Amino acid sequence: MRKRANYLCEYCHSPERISTTRFTVDHLIPKSIGGSDELSNLALACRRCNERRYNFVAGYDYYEKFQDYC
Ligand SMILES: [Zn+2]
Repeated sequence: MRKRANYLCEYCHSPERISTTRFTVDHLIPKSIGGSDELSNLALACRRCNERRYNFVAGYDYYEKFQDYC
């Protein structure tokens, strides 16, 4: 999974090794709405992109400050 993505965030393409946090595996289709755990539904995402995306999916106000990142 991480190898397929070349250890790069699949959204902003920043390398994991310069990130202060480990990248997370993001579901393209959230599991909460029936997404699978198959590779085709997974993407490696840095923390900022993952939180930004989470904001998009879940609409949490807390994450709005990450909107302009990446
Ligand atoms: Zn990113």
